[in-house]
Amino acid sequence: MPYVVTQSCCSDASCVLACPVNCIHPAPGDPDFATAEMLYIDPDGCVDCGACATACPVDAIKPHTLLTPAEEPFLALNAEYFEVFPHADRAPVAVVPPQRRLRDPRPVRVAVVGAGPAGLYAADELLKHPELRVDVLDRLPTPHGLVRAGVAPDHQRTKQAERLFRQIEEQPAFGYLLGVEVGRDVSRAELDERYDAVIWTVGASADKPLHVPGEDLPGSLSATEVVGWYNGHPDHQDLAVDLGHERVVVVGNGNVALDVARVLTLDPERLRGTDIAGLPWAQLAQSRVREVVVLGRRGPAQAAFTLPELVGLVALAEQGVVDVVVETGGADLPADTPVGRQLARLRSLPTDPSRRRIVLRFLTQPLAVLGEERVTGLEVERTSLQPGPDGTLRAVGTGGTEVLECGLVLRAVGYHGREVADLPYDPATGTVPSDRGRVEPGTYVAGWVKRGPTGFIGTNKSCAQETVARLLDDLDAGLVGPPARDAADLGALLASRGVTVLDLSDWRALDAEERRRGAAGGRVRAKIVDREEMLRVAVEARRERVARPRYASRPKARSTR
Ligand SMILES: Cc1cc2nc3c(=O)[nH]c(=O)nc-3n(C[C@H](O)[C@H](O)[C@H](O)COP(=O)(O)OP(=O)(O)OC[C@H]3O[C@@H](n4cnc5c(N)ncnc54)[C@H](O)[C@@H]3O)c2cc1C
Ligand code: SF4
Ligand code: SF4
Repeated sequence: MPYVVTQSCCSDASCVLACPVNCIHPAPGDPDFATAEMLYIDPDGCVDCGACATACPVDAIKPHTLLTPAEEPFLALNAEYFEVFPHADRAPVAVVPPQRRLRDPRPVRVAVVGAGPAGLYAADELLKHPELRVDVLDRLPTPHGLVRAGVAPDHQRTKQAERLFRQIEEQPAFGYLLGVEVGRDVSRAELDERYDAVIWTVGASADKPLHVPGEDLPGSLSATEVVGWYNGHPDHQDLAVDLGHERVVVVGNGNVALDVARVLTLDPERLRGTDIAGLPWAQLAQSRVREVVVLGRRGPAQAAFTLPELVGLVALAEQGVVDVVVETGGADLPADTPVGRQLARLRSLPTDPSRRRIVLRFLTQPLAVLGEERVTGLEVERTSLQPGPDGTLRAVGTGGTEVLECGLVLRAVGYHGREVADLPYDPATGTVPSDRGRVEPGTYVAGWVKRGPTGFIGTNKSCAQETVARLLDDLDAGLVGPPARDAADLGALLASRGVTVLDLSDWRALDAEERRRGAAGGRVRAKIVDREEMLRVAVEARRERVARPRYASRPKARSTR
């Protein structure tokens, strides 16, 4: 009864260290670990101990007998990985690096800017050293970055990564300063003079433009904004998402495009119990959208979505939740690849005109967003694949055009980092240039701002570990700190600027209130989406905590004699 890794795997490799027989790969150190879409269990090596399932933060691992029909394809996918990369020549146990110790055990204080996965994994890695205290800052009153505001609401298992973040937050030397935008409320220099080192984990929150005429028309939006809207990100709650038309076109076919296509086509009842924001859910419940076309410039073999996401979509189509139509534009489906087989499976499924549908359309590129006052359509051109100078296949327009009538055009062609504070910035990649995370001694980066918007939640763990190793090198070499001022006065500085800063207890109170409101409606949580309300709820709870005596006097026990 081998165990099997399924769709919600976020590649953090926690299971690798738990496995007594080293049968989960690719593991850190394997050449393909950095680019892996998920990890796989070798069915021939697995001794069914279940340790990996306990270690997994997102419940991605199951014994094969407990797989649901939707998860069954993962049994073959796990086995197939080891047919291509046989296990026999691997080391018998996973490599566990020895715990490093600082040469000079003096107290060290590190600020981490950005409370997303990279920031929290960095904090966790730093807190393995008893000399270190870590303050994590975020511009929002809520932490957890894109796990809260990006991961799709129908992927609640993936959002269980927040349970792991909770454990990281509980460490005694961990602190939050939430609601603080570095670069606006406090400068980089003011942080630098208060901390031995600062790690920037601010993500990549902008989107790439299409560079076609009409993309600024009302009704032409970025998937980034729409994802933020339905996930309750306070910056995107006023977004005008017009769902009064039958067709939406999403340009780009990565996982974010599939997320948006699913959310726009799923029966709202399937989303009701999730953490989707309240008003967007109500709007989706009234939606007239019948079809979402997902455009890919290149062919099915070059599709940007990952295999686990495609398997999840196939399962929805098999269950009759939504129709998924594959239009290859004349290209052959890639034979003998797992993606090709999943697309062929989609093609073989019957469709039903009464159901909403997602069209995966390949070899098509956008030419112009059409409309006078708002979007009425998208002009597209067929493409063909030609080898570029470096040998990779590029999409080249064939001249054959058509108009897809639609009411919304969403661009999902990639995220891009913004310039932040006065850090060095590479506009081409949208990242802060660094040497394995070191910008200069005392200044470091991890996560999407370091390596660009690639990888999964867990990918940020090894990324943050690499960065923290550079920071520890610099501490050992005496290149950083001690700081000129005490970080303890940061709170007073921010208060003098009128910034309401939330700490861990405040976040716990806000979290509890969202869960309480959600439970009343049978939901995971009812997100508070207005920044002022978030602050109000947290501050009121703080007042109550302060007013409540820490140890309420208990009535004296009555004598039984
Ligand atoms: C739509 C979407 C869906 C995804 N779904 C999945 C999935 O299902 N599974 C999976 O494994 N991965 C998924 N990912 C990828 C995953 O979310 C990323 O790998 C991860 O969030 C990147 O982590 P990060 O910490 O670098 O950035 P982020 O998560 O973006 O965190 C950055 C944090 O920095 C804060 N910040 C920014 N600027 C400042 C500032 N000036 N001062 C203070 N704070 C600041 C932000 O508020 C944010 O909280 C998804 C990504 C997207 C975009
Ligand atoms: S069940 Fe045990 S042996 Fe099998 S993959 Fe998990 S940890 Fe390894
Ligand atoms: S999420 Fe992490 S622990 Fe779970 S299966 Fe994937 S790599 Fe293993």
